[in-house]
Amino acid sequence: MSNVMNTYARLPVAFERGEGPWLWDTQNKRYLDALAGIAVCGLGHSHPSLTRVLCEQAGKLLHTSNLYTITLQEKLADRLTALSGMENVFFCNSGCEANEAAIKLARYFGHTKKNIDSPNIIVLEKSFHGRTMATLSATGSRKVQAGFEPLVSGFVRVPFDDLDAIRRVAEHNHNIVAVMVELVQGEGGINICHPDYLKGLRELCDSHDWLLMLDEVQSGMGRTGTWFAFQHSNIKPDVMTLAKGLANGLPIGACLTAGKAATLFSPGKHGSTFGGNPMVCAGALETLRVIEADKLMDNAVAIGEFFRAGFSLALQGQSGVRQIRVKGLMVGIELDRPCGALVEQALGAGLLINVTADSVVRLLPPLIFTRENAQQVIDILCPLIIRLLEKPL
Ligand SMILES: *Cc1c(COP(=O)(O)O)cnc(C)c1O
Repeated sequence: MSNVMNTYARLPVAFERGEGPWLWDTQNKRYLDALAGIAVCGLGHSHPSLTRVLCEQAGKLLHTSNLYTITLQEKLADRLTALSGMENVFFCNSGCEANEAAIKLARYFGHTKKNIDSPNIIVLEKSFHGRTMATLSATGSRKVQAGFEPLVSGFVRVPFDDLDAIRRVAEHNHNIVAVMVELVQGEGGINICHPDYLKGLRELCDSHDWLLMLDEVQSGMGRTGTWFAFQHSNIKPDVMTLAKGLANGLPIGACLTAGKAATLFSPGKHGSTFGGNPMVCAGALETLRVIEADKLMDNAVAIGEFFRAGFSLALQGQSGVRQIRVKGLMVGIELDRPCGALVEQALGAGLLINVTADSVVRLLPPLIFTRENAQQVIDILCPLIIRLLEKPL
């Protein structure tokens, strides 16, 4: 009997070590990792230079406090703002915390700049922003919210990728202060917004004086082929949140701001004990260095397209395959039926995948994936999908 609280439907496997895209379990069975700890380990496992940097940093300094200047945090903020065009960074420890900071910023913007007593934030259907009270309230999934009412108020929900729905809200709700969006919804099923959606969002936010807040916790850090998903267009957000891939597995989150959002907070408005400590910042800096030096964003695009072509070919003529969606190394295969059973079948065959939104096979492989790795995923996964689709609905 486990003494760990029962909050996860865990698979019956425990990993002991990893190398690149490979993991080994306690029985020494090898697995190909096409999930990377849910878009976290972009460099793969046990990356040699990251390991070296972390060992050196552990011998120097783990933690001081945000009561003092943290040189590595300053360096990381310099690097992240240079890469994104944003101006300031607040460091925390996870994605939901980064989104909490964004939500607080939006409310504070409403109170102090727009004279709105009850600020509202527009959020999207099928979105995922985290499991804290505010972020689960922002999340567009009843499964995440049910049983935890009363929810945090002040969120207005609209369909994904629908600018007119936002325009209609703007007509009657004058308490809106921000829009919070994932450009590629991860947990929601790898839903990719239309190329013009972000431009429309930017125009709406500018004309109404709202903050444009992008949750790039999953889509950031090179995963879609650019450092951040918004960089596929030439639009810049006012607020962007990061976490998952930022330090390849060390717990770190970041909330970046620009323009009218950049200088809202002052001392005492927000904080974190651990946020941006020397250890995690050393890890993030090395992760950024390797993504750039090894051209992993170009690789993400190339391998993503390899997946698109490979899956299209191997699943050709399968009427149960609704859509194959690819943005860099965010890959989703939507089926016409629930397919959670595939996860354990793939595990048995030595492959780690994920199923989200009931019927979407989701792959978030490390950015170091090779064509050979990708072909192996296709060769293992497609027969399992075809077998599932052969069963009567
Ligand atoms: C995972 C995720 C979160 C939550 O991150 P945690 O680190 O689990 O709190 C928030 N937003 C998006 C888009 C995510 O994918």
